[in-house]
This record gives sequence, structure tokens and C-alpha cells, in this order.
Amino acid sequence: MHFATLKMMDLTWLGTAGFIVKTKEGEISFDPFLSRGPGQQSPFTVKTFENTQALFVGHGHFDHTYDIPDIVKESDLKVYAPGLTGQILKLRGVPASRLLEANNKEVLFSPLKVRAFRSSHVKFDIPLIFSTLKRCTFKDCLHVGYLGLAYPKGLVQTYLFEVGGKKVLFISSGGCTDAELVEYRKLEVDYLLAPLQGHSSIQELIAKQTVMIQPQVVIPHHHDDFYAPLSQNISVDVFRDHLKFLGFKGLVLEIPLFKSSQI
Ligand SMILES: [Zn+2]
Repeated sequence: MHFATLKMMDLTWLGTAGFIVKTKEGEISFDPFLSRGPGQQSPFTVKTFENTQALFVGHGHFDHTYDIPDIVKESDLKVYAPGLTGQILKLRGVPASRLLEANNKEVLFSPLKVRAFRSSHVKFDIPLIFSTLKRCTFKDCLHVGYLGLAYPKGLVQTYLFEVGGKKVLFISSGGCTDAELVEYRKLEVDYLLAPLQGHSSIQELIAKQTVMIQPQVVIPHHHDDFYAPLSQNISVDVFRDHLKFLGFKGLVLEIPLFKSSQI
């Protein structure tokens, strides 16, 4: 990485809700999920994180935490996780010395002024549950039940960080309440990392949230088919259409799966 040519940050979408953010001030990551299901395999490995200093966890579900114990073994990074999720990561082998509470009271990682804000998980709706069940065999259903029990959601956190005077908000699941959205709006966010998964009308839902938060740029994520048949590809074009319909004045920046964008 040649920082002389770096604009402000190099943002890599790892697939699912995972990101690596490389800046002159430091390198951080959010919710990396490398294992994935059948389909497109991740080009990233635990070695990808050898220069990462801090990893922030949005919530405890398997697609946000599964690979963290292996990543920790191969790097020096510290993991910031909300309450129960931190305890479960400890049980799964992350040493206590590498774990920090992702609390809402203080700056968690000062080089990028990372702060955590209370957030809510999207509620899987009945049409989504039925369409998912249709794709799943009985064995898949048992496996999904196991994943749900072994990787509970726990507290959900949204993270804000700052680089070069720009503010970036990472949301791990699209269930933000109106009160939470009002708080996010006050942050005057430049870039919003918005999750498109978990509801049959997720594009409409996230478009409404984007309009309320009012970022300059929205960067969708989580719309890949990361764990088929549980997941599915979500159309970003439909998300764009909803934003247009709602009169969103900002830009949509679509980072292709496993690719980086310099912003
Ligand atoms: Zn989740």
C-alpha cells in the first residue's frame, strides 16, 4: 500500500458486513466473515489482518463473528465486542487480553476516533422466512437452528470513525429505530456503510434509513450471497430506485464484492 497515493482511506469490502479500512492513521476492520458458504469463496485469509490494529464487532451472529478466533491467532489486533458477544468470543478461544468492551461511553480507538452507538437488529419478516425455508433442506434448517443458538445476536452496535475530517458510520444490521436514526443524523455522517440483508423489503427499509441519516455517500454491503441457501443476492439497483423515489440527494457507491475503493 502506497500511502502517498492514498486519498483518505482504502476501503475493502470483504463480503457480508466485513470491511477493512486502511488509512495513514491506522488500520481497522469490521465484522469479517471469510468462511462463507458454497458459492464465491473469499480471496482473504487470516493473513489479510496482519497489519490490522483493531477489529470492531457489530453483533454476535455467526456471519459477523465466526472467523474472529482464527484471525486473532494470526495477528496482534484487539477485538472490540459488545457484552455477551465478547464473553462468547472468550469461550471460543479469544484471550481476555485481546478483548475490549465496545462501550458507548468513550473513544474506543483514538487514531480514528472510533465510537460505538446503540443499535437494533433487523426483524426477519414472515415473507423472508418463508422464501428462505423454501430454499433450505431439512438438514439446512437444523444447521441454521444450531447457528442461531451458538451465535446469539447479543447487543448490537453501530460504529462511527473519522478520517481526514470525514465521518464514516458502519451499521451491521438494518433494524435501526427512529430514535437511533435521529442520533445518527446528528452525527453529520459523510459515508454510510448500510447493510442490505435480513428483510423481504430491505432495499426500501434501508433507503428510508439512509434518507433519515442523510449521508453524502451511501455504500451498501451484506447484499452478497454469503451463506447459501440461507442468504441471497440482493439487488443494489432496487436500492438505488428507492433512494431516487425518496429524493435522496447523495451518491451511491457500490464496491464490488471483495474489491476496494479509495475514498
Ligand atoms: Zn445478524
